[in-house]
Amino acid sequence: MKIPRRIIVCGMEWSIRLSDTLSLQDPPLWGDCDHERKTIEISSDHPQTNVVFHETVHAISESMGYDPTEKQVDEITCSVLSFFQANKPFIRWLLEELAD
Ligand SMILES: [Zn+2]
Repeated sequence: MKIPRRIIVCGMEWSIRLSDTLSLQDPPLWGDCDHERKTIEISSDHPQTNVVFHETVHAISESMGYDPTEKQVDEITCSVLSFFQANKPFIRWLLEELAD
């Protein structure tokens, strides 16, 4: 399944773009979150779930006025993805409950 190109974060539309140049930077980046442009860039040669979700955690945190450290973003990313992975019936139920 392809990564959705648009997400809604705190009521604002964000773009998700794949980048061919992000991983060529020094130091190389796998992902980047630009709050001003409401854009998440993901390295096209490394579009892993945890990178996309990591940048989404940045987007949500910054939209709420928080400025977490990279370590905190990594910990939230790991914890939430582990929770999703371990609780798929719960996630399916939640998505059904939230359906329009
Ligand atoms: Zn980060």
